[in-house]
Amino acid sequence: QQDFPAARWRAEFPLLQRSVRGQPLAYLDNAATTQKPQAVIDAEARYYREINANIHRGVHWLSEQATAAHEGARERVRRFLNAREAAEIIFVRGTTEAINLVAQSYGRANLGPGDEVLITGLEHHSNIVPWQMVCAQTGATLKVATLDDTGSVRMDEFRRLLGARTRLVAVAHVSNALGTVNPVREMIDLAHAQGVPVLVDGAQAVAHTPVDVQALDCDFYAFSGHKLYAPTGIGALYGRRALLDAMPPWQGGGDMIRTVSFEGSTWNDLPYKFEAGTPHIAGAIGLGAAIEYLGEVGLEAVAAYEHELLIYGTALLQEIPGLRMIGTAAHKAGILSFVIDGLHAHDIGTVLDTEGVAIRAGHHCAMPVMEHFGVPATARASLAFYNTREDLDRLAQALRRAVEMFVR
Ligand code: PMP
Repeated sequence: QQDFPAARWRAEFPLLQRSVRGQPLAYLDNAATTQKPQAVIDAEARYYREINANIHRGVHWLSEQATAAHEGARERVRRFLNAREAAEIIFVRGTTEAINLVAQSYGRANLGPGDEVLITGLEHHSNIVPWQMVCAQTGATLKVATLDDTGSVRMDEFRRLLGARTRLVAVAHVSNALGTVNPVREMIDLAHAQGVPVLVDGAQAVAHTPVDVQALDCDFYAFSGHKLYAPTGIGALYGRRALLDAMPPWQGGGDMIRTVSFEGSTWNDLPYKFEAGTPHIAGAIGLGAAIEYLGEVGLEAVAAYEHELLIYGTALLQEIPGLRMIGTAAHKAGILSFVIDGLHAHDIGTVLDTEGVAIRAGHHCAMPVMEHFGVPATARASLAFYNTREDLDRLAQALRRAVEMFVR
């Protein structure tokens, strides 16, 4: 993918021009959060400079402008996911809030004693804990399809656990700890054959591959803006209208109601039924700008370029003495997770930091994944389209120095 202009795109990210600890920054912690292009920073600032007002209830000009920009951003998210209608897009704080919304609204209304929620062994804590909470509240049971040695979900086990008592399946599209791409389309087909709806945690997918919720046929799809070059504090939940219409509201307050009296209240239409209170207007506008920006970069091209970087980086890392890759699934996106004999992941991260190479070390909010591989933590380098081979060369060089310093 020699023709992908990564350096040109990189120039549009102000933070990537910084030096860190006296070195140019090699930012390889994109699975934690991505940097923001000038276009997104400008869109958010422009909102505050030019049209800041509360939305939906104002009769004045500014409020109309702000409402139009906010709802315009919703339409961009709709197009980005190819949802049927904008009413199926609910703005939330991020993936975590989206999953909690489904657990507490759909889950509480539809789960009871003996019912089961099926997840997989590679889930982020935010696609585990909300289900544990709603299971404790309703008497339902959490089932887990475990992983094989490559960090792929055992599909035979997934099929076996998907039974007459399964009421919901919740799976990550892409694992944040390993980079494994789940066969979500196959999982959704299997679940639907049993009449079971599926939530897909798309936090690590949306920045790396085009997503089409109609082609996937998923029932819920959750993602966070900040992993998609957009601001923090904003994300979206896609939900199939038939399910959302039947679900009770999760949070009560302004905007989510149609009428309120002391005897009782009635609910607003979708999507507002699930958006109590003043939303993160600037964030939604920033998210819309990020989606537009990513449209210019082209997600198909991003996927191909990042795949090539992943292959290049994997080959480089495999030459480091004592390094073991954690997660070697055939189908991976954007993530190099590894351990080095005799060296704790945090020490790796600290040495790399002194060289201006930013990675993450730890359990990556996926403790069960660490347990599966028998490691307390991994070092994780994660890619974005603004990364280059040079970033990965610097990663490998710094790792060699770390090995020499600590192990030899
Ligand atoms: N799921 C996955 C797979 C993730 O990688 C993350 C973020 N690390 C989340 C969920 C949670 O996202 P957020 O913290 O933005 O809510």
